[in-house]
Amino acid sequence: MALNFRYIMYRTNTCGELRLIDINKEVSLAGWVQTVRKFGSITFIDLRDRYGITQLLFSENLNALLDANPLGREFVLQIKGNVHERSSKNANIPTGEIEINVTEYNILNKSALPPFTIQDDTDGGDDIRMKYRFLDLRRNAIKKNLELRYQVNRCTRNYLHENNFMDIETPFLIKSTPEGARDFVVPSRMNPGQFYALPQSPQTFKQLLMVSGYDRYYQIVKCFRDEDLRADRQPEFTQIDCEMAFVGQDDIIQIFEGLIKQIFKDVKGIDYTDKVERMTWEDAMWQYGNDKPDIRFDISICNLKKPKTIFTDKNDFAHLIKDVDFKVFDEAETVVAIAIPGCSEYSRKQTDELTEWVKRPQIGMKGLVFIKYNTDGTYKSSVDKFYSELKLKTIAEAAHAKVGDLILILAGAEEKTRKAISDLRMYLADRLGLRKSTEFKLLWVIDFPLFEYDEEGNRWVARHHPFTSPKQDHINLMINNNPVIENAETYLEHPYANIKANAYDMVLNGNEIGGGSIRIYQRALQEKMFAALGMNAAEQQHKFGFLLGAFEYGAPPHGGIAFGFDRLCAILGGSESIRDFIAFPKNNSGRDVMLDAPSTIEEKQFEELQIKLNIK
Ligand code: ASP
Repeated sequence: MALNFRYIMYRTNTCGELRLIDINKEVSLAGWVQTVRKFGSITFIDLRDRYGITQLLFSENLNALLDANPLGREFVLQIKGNVHERSSKNANIPTGEIEINVTEYNILNKSALPPFTIQDDTDGGDDIRMKYRFLDLRRNAIKKNLELRYQVNRCTRNYLHENNFMDIETPFLIKSTPEGARDFVVPSRMNPGQFYALPQSPQTFKQLLMVSGYDRYYQIVKCFRDEDLRADRQPEFTQIDCEMAFVGQDDIIQIFEGLIKQIFKDVKGIDYTDKVERMTWEDAMWQYGNDKPDIRFDISICNLKKPKTIFTDKNDFAHLIKDVDFKVFDEAETVVAIAIPGCSEYSRKQTDELTEWVKRPQIGMKGLVFIKYNTDGTYKSSVDKFYSELKLKTIAEAAHAKVGDLILILAGAEEKTRKAISDLRMYLADRLGLRKSTEFKLLWVIDFPLFEYDEEGNRWVARHHPFTSPKQDHINLMINNNPVIENAETYLEHPYANIKANAYDMVLNGNEIGGGSIRIYQRALQEKMFAALGMNAAEQQHKFGFLLGAFEYGAPPHGGIAFGFDRLCAILGGSESIRDFIAFPKNNSGRDVMLDAPSTIEEKQFEELQIKLNIK
């Protein structure tokens, strides 16, 4: 990469810049010593900086100097010399046709021997790389991730700026905003015994900004959630956080579909012209058992028993498995099937492996039924005893099986079985190479349930967050019914179970990359919502008095969305791990091993805060 200004002090060019046309120029470079290769009276050094690698040639007299004072890996070196054509060229690097015949050099700083090699294929394990993250970041593999992240950031800012959005900062030291996770808290020295919370997201602030009239807001902002870190989560992560006033769901969908398509174009060079499908939450659950389905491959679920949580009319295939006296199916709440393309010839060993896979504790199924739709047109099944070939054929047809497919059937409790079939679908798609990291498929999932049933407390919790509005024609269902659940067994019969929200998620390749909603903006409805979640008037006032109050001063209709920035970058970079796209990430226990944080604080700090530890 060429720079459009000239350096004054240390270098004239970068290590990624010089080419054949620069031959005979006198240049100076500065960077890190990647490798030193000695051949008798000459030495080759690869000098690295952020822009690339340039080969340096130290001949005769300088070589003798080097012998007296050898250069080690990662020394910081400044050189002056002339650009020469290389006799043996390296086609793998952009500067591979030239080298610098060094005339002067200056060691700017020495380096201790790095604890791992700073190359694409490093010999450093995860822990050591995190401890020395500043060295890890010198590696190309990480650098290109951070570059991609920066591109996504820049493209986002450009697009939102073009569309009249204003970047407005919101505070980090705030009051608790419950969004489903635990808050990180910060003690206040000036207000002993009182605590700030770090924002789980700027949700209430962006809503207040709408009340203030800033009708298009955004921020690329840190959010903090004190969760047990399931795989690939970070306690602090970044969102592209947006809010708009005077909009409905379609407006939001249009603007933010535009953003993601622009990112595809600018960052990946992909012209995403496919229409982005909008799928209701019920359809997603019905067809894929999952509210963030990967739709890059065509395997969908056949429901052999209708799940209870699906309220809309749908045709299941219960009649196909009835009247056979096969207890496993008869007694199961849910029976679901998928047809796996081209796998009818799986051996006994392979089907046994799949059975073991679904029996693992993480999946927790009791077993797996299969039907092979053989290439000769016959059907063979693990339940031949119960089902005639004709029955097997009708089941296979219902599962959209084609000749040569393997049909897999799971039966059990609804939620578990649905999750299992969804996981099995993804697992097999991975095995069959149907999930290519170079292929991108977007999807909107809409019409989520407003509430989720919390078994432990026998109460309703907000599925998205308490500021999400119900669908217009479900508002009355909420207003006119008492939220109390009389009978936990039949909670699904409570009118609240079927209230749908004005909420939407954007899904990319089976990952939820963004989610948002149209918000409640009238005080009375917001109070009703808080009450439905079990908050009495005093609690509402204590926690959200500021928002309820603001809604009395001309709050406009509004809605918004937030994208998980780290995850979006990781997917665009073809990676499963967000850590590789964060400069200084934390490990799975939420530790920064480089800083050794969290750590204890000094006694004096406790005294100032008037806090006593009581660790059990
Ligand atoms: N604040 C929400 C979240 O972090 C996103 C939104 O509703 O805009 O998930």
